[in-house]
Amino acid sequence: MKLPPHITVNNGHLHIGGLDCVALAEKYGTPLYVTSEDRVCEQFERYKKALLSRYPKVQVLFVAKANGNLALMRALGNLGAGADVFSSGELHLALEAGMRPERLLFNGSSKTPGDLSFAVEKGVKVSVDSLDELHQLDAAARAAGKVALIAFRVNPALEVPTHPKIATGLKTSKFGIPHEEIPAAYREALACKNIRPVGIHCHIGSQILDVEPFARAAEVMVRIAKELTGMGVKLEFIDIGGGLGIPYHHDTDPAPTAEDYAAKVIPLFRVGLEACGITPELWVEPGRSLVADSTVLLTRVNSTKTAHKRFANVDAGFNLLIRPAMYDAYHEVIVVNKADAPLTTEYTVTGPICETGDILAPDRRLPELAAGDIIAVLDTGAYGYAMSSQYNSRPRCPEVLIRGKDVALMRRGETIGDITGTMQRPPWQQ
Ligand SMILES: *Cc1c(COP(=O)(O)O)cnc(C)c1O
Repeated sequence: MKLPPHITVNNGHLHIGGLDCVALAEKYGTPLYVTSEDRVCEQFERYKKALLSRYPKVQVLFVAKANGNLALMRALGNLGAGADVFSSGELHLALEAGMRPERLLFNGSSKTPGDLSFAVEKGVKVSVDSLDELHQLDAAARAAGKVALIAFRVNPALEVPTHPKIATGLKTSKFGIPHEEIPAAYREALACKNIRPVGIHCHIGSQILDVEPFARAAEVMVRIAKELTGMGVKLEFIDIGGGLGIPYHHDTDPAPTAEDYAAKVIPLFRVGLEACGITPELWVEPGRSLVADSTVLLTRVNSTKTAHKRFANVDAGFNLLIRPAMYDAYHEVIVVNKADAPLTTEYTVTGPICETGDILAPDRRLPELAAGDIIAVLDTGAYGYAMSSQYNSRPRCPEVLIRGKDVALMRRGETIGDITGTMQRPPWQQ
């Protein structure tokens, strides 16, 4: 199987960032998320360089929802990353990670009054999703004696080749304002005393393995930019979202790189903007393509069973990685302590959750397994821990971060007290 450079096989054991995954599992226990900080930084720099080599003003915003660990966000913030945040919680995290407020965009289709006033208080730009929200934000900014800087989220009505649950720019999607209504929305924003429209924003979906749809989105955005510039809107940034996919099937998926993306999108963007005589910043919002392949989820085989088929019952399930159950997502799996053994036997790798759908990896050829073997689930750095739960009253596992030869916890494992601690006894049960 093709592996990225930070994942290697050495003496029969799988390594990440040069560290033996068997030793990591022994030291920290399983299940365990292990992330390479160096890999995340390398991906970020690659992204930034690919864009900057073709356009002078670029801002890369990490999408906080993909992986909300502060250590990771701090590493990215130190490299100059901003963030796209979708909740007050994510805004807290981005600020605590040291990201600069002017590099943050508060996005979201259903913001509370509290969200809006928090964004205004912190001076963070807001991606406004409706006219109703526009007027609420105007009022919040007036109450604070400030001017809120905004973009509207454009719905470009584009079909994209991905799972329907992660296509976000379809005509029928809940996100954004239909592209044909956008000029009217900006006219309304220009009339608001405490609002200044300074950008436009779109995001067409996630796990897109073809760069063509991004080009279509860029064309829509450039067309809108031209119209808005004609109306007197001074555009300081155009945010074309995230969504570049990664090759979850290592040997067969196409793997468009940040370079492929930039080479496709930027020329259209440049030409279009030169025609309207503006050079706004180009903002992009990658999540998955920055962090997914940085991380493995290590999980131990509790037992094997041959029933209708062969099952390997492991200690991580959709409580820790919901993507297979939720999106039918594919993740490569490797037996960490038998990493160069022949793949002789077909197993379905199943989690410990009391649900038929708790399958991490169906019908995979693996070495002969026994209780105690450790399996790595690859490419789990995006939408992995971030979407985890305590379902079946299972405390979440720890996360460790490695950099160079160093390794440290970046989140401790939860205890049963973390589950019961927020519960309260009603007075009639005292
Ligand atoms: C989820 C999301 C992204 C990131 O998508 P990826 O596929 O992880 O790159 C970017 N922008 C917005 C608005 C999103 O909701």
